[in-house]
Amino acid sequence: MAREYFIAGNWKMFKTADESRQFVQELARSFAPVAGLTVAVFPPFTALASVQGLDPRVHIGAQNMFYEAQGAFTGEISPRMLQGLAEYVLLGHSERREIFHESDRDVNRKLLAALGAGLKPVLCVGETLPERESGQTLEKVLRQLEHGLAGVAGGDWPNVTVAYEPIWAIGTGRNATPGQAQEVHGAIARWLAGKAPGIPVKVLYGGSVKPDNSLELLSQADISGVLVGGASLNVESFSAIIQCGLTLLGA
Ligand code: PEP
Repeated sequence: MAREYFIAGNWKMFKTADESRQFVQELARSFAPVAGLTVAVFPPFTALASVQGLDPRVHIGAQNMFYEAQGAFTGEISPRMLQGLAEYVLLGHSERREIFHESDRDVNRKLLAALGAGLKPVLCVGETLPERESGQTLEKVLRQLEHGLAGVAGGDWPNVTVAYEPIWAIGTGRNATPGQAQEVHGAIARWLAGKAPGIPVKVLYGGSVKPDNSLELLSQADISGVLVGGASLNVESFSAIIQCGLTLLGA
């Protein structure tokens, strides 16, 4: 099967609406659209409206959402509110799990609600440093997949993306080696093949992805894209990462 790459930028709590709009316009000018390449950015909620319809080359995602449709949930955003503003939604990012105490059950409820609303969830999974050092990486990641993706209906699998993000590699400048990442991606691919046979669910690697390590990471057999934090905040570095995907696609 021909390779496809999904290059995604998680902007976290950075960029105003104006800055986001300007960034998307500049980013779109920096690469040519090519079959097999999907580029997406995940701005803060407050910038989603300002980046609508700017350029079909840059897809838009939200960084989180709540699972209820509406109600007395001060400060939360529902799946319905994201319709028309976001195509994708990041769920279970380690910062949500660790800082805001989201459980696997919360993440699963969000994921099913996102699919129900026609949004494409990107489910983040990953182990802490102590978990890696004590040999629990695969157990943790497979447990997060098992819980996070429980109840996904057959027809919904093509809309699911998984992001493997070792927590010790996020924002630390210390990325997993391509071999370490591939080992976990291989296990995720085997798990997914059992749940959704024949459906090519994309699995992104995230954790200190930079222009100088993305070519090798993207070359791994079971890595179908990257989820980029810090290096996605700058057009030059993000487009250099996109360029690595284009190079591997032969463009
Ligand atoms: C992230 O926030 O998902 C991430 C991978 O961040 P960074 O690239 O900065 O490590």
